[in-house]
Amino acid sequence: MKVTVFGIGYVGLVQAAVLAEVGHQVLCVDVNALRVENLKQGIIPIYEPGLTPLVEKHFASGYLNFTTDAAAGVQHGDVQFIAVGTPPDEDGSADLQYVLAVATTIANHMETAKVIIDKSTVPVGTADRVKARIAEVLKARNVVLEFDVVSNPEFLKEGAAVSDCMRPDRIIVGTYDDRPHDLMRELYEPFNRNHDKLIFMDVRSAELTKYAANCMLATKISFMNEMANLAEMLGADIEAVRKGIGSDPRIGYHFIYPGCGYGGSCFPKDVQALIRSSEQLGYTPKILQAVEAVNDKQKYKLPSLVQQHFGNELAGKTIALWGLSFKPNTDDMREASSRVLMETLWQAGAKVQAYDPEAMEETQRIYGVRDDLTLVGTKEAALKGAAALVICTEWQQFRAPDFDLIKAQLQHPVIFDGRNLFEPRRLEARGFTYYAIGRGETV
Ligand code: NAD
Repeated sequence: MKVTVFGIGYVGLVQAAVLAEVGHQVLCVDVNALRVENLKQGIIPIYEPGLTPLVEKHFASGYLNFTTDAAAGVQHGDVQFIAVGTPPDEDGSADLQYVLAVATTIANHMETAKVIIDKSTVPVGTADRVKARIAEVLKARNVVLEFDVVSNPEFLKEGAAVSDCMRPDRIIVGTYDDRPHDLMRELYEPFNRNHDKLIFMDVRSAELTKYAANCMLATKISFMNEMANLAEMLGADIEAVRKGIGSDPRIGYHFIYPGCGYGGSCFPKDVQALIRSSEQLGYTPKILQAVEAVNDKQKYKLPSLVQQHFGNELAGKTIALWGLSFKPNTDDMREASSRVLMETLWQAGAKVQAYDPEAMEETQRIYGVRDDLTLVGTKEAALKGAAALVICTEWQQFRAPDFDLIKAQLQHPVIFDGRNLFEPRRLEARGFTYYAIGRGETV
């Protein structure tokens, strides 16, 4: 099948590469000329396990190509994916300008029937707006062409995006009527062999399904962080509580880890967008408001612990930081907890000496060169001469470090662990002061 993908970001590029892998002919369109040029040179704009070889293979095989030429993109695909960003507007609602710009582009250039698939995360009612925009432009052009708008939200997890797209748990397809069903089945057939993962529904339900999924996941995290804060005050250990409640299959072990707050490009923005959508309807979404408030506060947990520990002596100190990305296996720094940590430490006059396996280039891009930020090549180098160690991201390589070395390199044997990687008793026995999240022993 001939497929066009507008937007070569985390979602668009991964989706395009995976569609090329199963034999679809994919052309990607982006307004970012540098990104397109780089991709043609084999420079992949994001870090995602397994993505680079896939992109290289299919650019070479001719199944995957990149362009800034929107007209060529519209001409190419019977299917047109919209996978552009939907960042938060000033008031937190989703900014739809990029989605609607693509809709206009498609309508301006289409000469044959098209199926337009919205992959971006968009508020309920957006497919209606895309449909109306296309109809309006076609009318102005004085042409009559068939088109369908389909809502097909993406559920990939950054850090596991390629395998999630190759083996999706479910494929949600929202349509206005049955017309695009066969084509959507054909498009996704290669991913649907084991059992039927396609779930057809109306477009509004499909749009809401994406928000409901992300908001449920964010709720689980904020709920656990609230329990962790209570556990600290009550002298209980949230890790024991986590295992205790996870054993109930109605609750389950997945996604109930407490920590230093959720980040990334999706949860913060999608919770916020659903809050704004609710408010516009005159409904107060109390749970979502609490989820957001708990998370905003949780991001200050580690900086507060550091400030409490060092008191007035924090200014001028260097703090070692392991982990910058919002979660492991990605270079994505959007809304990462490490940013709140660094910015709060800088305000208090401290310096940060940081290491991350993938996100250092992105950190440099965001913060530029500054005296109070040193990015180093190994986790060991980050420790050298630092007053204490803070862990913000649970990369595998941080899980079993050489504690003797940590102790030897740090000025003070103090660890602030935002991901509960270690056993408090073991660290205390080694002479560390160990702060974690919701672990009674550290209170
Ligand atoms: P991104 O910011 O990484 O990429 C968006 C791309 O779209 C950029 O390369 C940008 O240049 C391009 N673009 C903007 N306007 C364009 C236009 N008019 N024509 C062509 N290209 C254009 O975004 P992302 O993280 O891939 O997210 C895309 C959408 O998918 C968002 O709605 C997001 O909420 C949703 N989503 C993201 C994830 C994730 O983990 N990142 C997961 C599921 C859903």
